[in-house]
Amino acid sequence: QSKSLGKNSFHFYSQALEKEALMQLAIEQSLRSAIASDELYLVYQPKVDLHSMKVVSVEALCRWTQPDGTVIPPDVFVPVAEQTGLIIDIGFSVITQACKQLAAWHNVGIHDVAISINLSSLEFQHKALINHLIQTLTDFDIDGKLLIIELTESIFMEDKFSIKETMLLLNNYGITFALDDFGKGYSSFSYLQFLPLHYLKIDKAFLQDVESNRSSAAIAKTIIDIGHNLDLIVIAEGIEDQFMLEYVKEFHCDLAQGYYLYKPMSAADFECVYAEASQDKQSQ
Ligand code: C2E
Ligand code: MG
Ligand code: MG
Ligand code: MG
Repeated sequence: QSKSLGKNSFHFYSQALEKEALMQLAIEQSLRSAIASDELYLVYQPKVDLHSMKVVSVEALCRWTQPDGTVIPPDVFVPVAEQTGLIIDIGFSVITQACKQLAAWHNVGIHDVAISINLSSLEFQHKALINHLIQTLTDFDIDGKLLIIELTESIFMEDKFSIKETMLLLNNYGITFALDDFGKGYSSFSYLQFLPLHYLKIDKAFLQDVESNRSSAAIAKTIIDIGHNLDLIVIAEGIEDQFMLEYVKEFHCDLAQGYYLYKPMSAADFECVYAEASQDKQSQ
C-alpha cells in the first residue's frame, strides 16, 4: 500500500516537474525568437516629485507581446531569461531602446526627464553589457545624468568591491543608481552605505497595507528616514490610491510612482502627458 502510494506521489511529482520544465522550455524557445524579431519593447511609467507633483523621470519596463497579441509579463519571462542567459540579450536591447528614446525626446525638446532601466545582478556583472551601455550613451550623445540604473538587493550577494567599481565607473558618465524593492530581500544597512547609491525605492509590499497594518506603516516610515539619513532620495513605488499617496507625503518621501499617478505607457503617450503638463504650467 505505502509502496504504491509512494510510487504514485513520485509519479505526480515528476509529472508536475516535467510540465514545469516543458513550460520553461516553451518560454525559452519563444523568448529566443522574440528577442531576434524585436517582440520585446519598453513602456514607461512616470515618477512624480511629491513637492511639485511634476514628472521627473520614467521607469522603463520591458514588455513582450507575442505575434498573436498575448502579452507576457516580465515576472514570467525575466526569471526564465535569467536561467538561460537570455537576460543578457534582453539587456542589450533594453539599453539600446532606452538610449534611443532619450535621444528622441531630446530632439523634441524633452530635456529634463530621466529614464531608469532595471538591470539584474547577472546583467550588471556582464562586462560587455556595461561596455555597450557606455558606447551607446556616447553614440547617441546622451548626458549620463538622464540615465538611472535600478538594481535590486540581490546585488548584495555578489562581490561588493567589483559591483562598486562598476558603479563608480558609470558614475563618471553621470549615471546614477537606485536600489529597487528595498526591504524585500537581503537588506543590509552597511551595504547601503558602501555602494554609491542615489535613490532608494521602498518595496511596494510595505505600502500596500499601510492603511490596515500599523507595522507596515512604521516600516515604511523608518525606511524613508533611514534613506534620508544616508542622503538618498526616497521613492515610493506601487502607489495605488489617494490614501497611500497622502501617507507617503506625510512621511516626507521624495518621489512616488504607481497606478494611481500614472500607469506604464508608450513613449508616444508619455509625450502627450508631458505636453499637457507643460501647457498647464504655461496657463498658470
Ligand atoms: P520593478 O522594477 O520593481 O518594477 C515595478 C513593477 O511594479 C512594474 O511591474 C510596474 O508595472 C508595477 N507597478 C507600477 N505601479 C504599480 C502599482 O501601483 N501597483 C502594483 N501592484 N504594481 C505597480 P512589471 O512591469 O510587471 O515588472 C515587474 C518586474 O520585472 C520589475 O519590477 C523588474 O524587476 C522586472 N523588469 C521589468 N523590466 C525589466 C527589464 O527591462 N530588465 C530586467 N532585468 N528586469 C525587468
Ligand atoms: Mg524597478
Ligand atoms: Mg520595484
Ligand atoms: Mg519588482
